[in-house]
Amino acid sequence: MILEVLSGTMVGEVLSFARRQGYSGLEFLAGVPATVGGAVRMNAGAYGKTFSMFVKKVKLLKEGKIEDYQPRENDWTYRSFRREGIVVSATIGLIRVSPEEIEKNLKEIYFKRKANQPLTERTFGSAFKNPPCCYAGKLIEDCGLKGYRIGGAKVSERHANFIVNFGNAKAQDVLALLRGVQKKVWERFGIMLEPEVKFLGCSL
Ligand SMILES: Cc1cc2nc3c(=O)[nH]c(=O)nc-3n(C[C@H](O)[C@H](O)[C@H](O)COP(=O)(O)OP(=O)(O)OC[C@H]3O[C@@H](n4cnc5c(N)ncnc54)[C@H](O)[C@@H]3O)c2cc1C
Repeated sequence: MILEVLSGTMVGEVLSFARRQGYSGLEFLAGVPATVGGAVRMNAGAYGKTFSMFVKKVKLLKEGKIEDYQPRENDWTYRSFRREGIVVSATIGLIRVSPEEIEKNLKEIYFKRKANQPLTERTFGSAFKNPPCCYAGKLIEDCGLKGYRIGGAKVSERHANFIVNFGNAKAQDVLALLRGVQKKVWERFGIMLEPEVKFLGCSL
């Protein structure tokens, strides 16, 4: 099935629609809070799959004009779509499978996330990108930083690449914590973690 979806649509809505129609593909993004536009720009991904694998075409608004664009492989990188412009819609290709298979995929993803991520706490998703060698969360954990806190922000005890707002964390608390984590990982492993999260009005 080929679906053109407007950029403000939540990926979860696309998933529910596809599930009802018996089409599969985006289950890996179950539980990821994203609009279609945000998922394109961030090349949202999980468990070895990325949004780019399903996007056939995007409509981009650039300098007052709408362009139909067929992304090439090198437009996509880890958590980024490089082509400029505002995403107006994305055309997504999904495949028909049995309802049982979709349910199985969704359950698998749900249990994986539940086992490893602080789903019931206030976070902004992964703080740092995984460097080419390994998982950012493992590096942070190996520095003994689970539970490390500044103000109202702490490194999750469940998954070290998540920052939890456990009280009234200020942006400054989160930034200080991220800087502290980055510094410790650099000192211990010589790896400079790059933020995955985007900053507005501040930077690391
Ligand atoms: C609990 C939790 C779990 C998460 N898990 C994952 C995960 O497993 N994998 C993953 O990849 N991410 C994950 N995230 C991060 C987040 O969900 C993704 O980055 C998502 O793609 C962001 O979508 P958004 O619509 O919220 O975009 P925003 O956060 O609003 O924006 C992200 C960027 O995209 C740009 N943008 C947004 N809409 C458009 C548009 N229409 N056109 C052009 N640019 C646009 C913004 O300017 C910004 O630069 C998680 C977040 C949370 C809170």
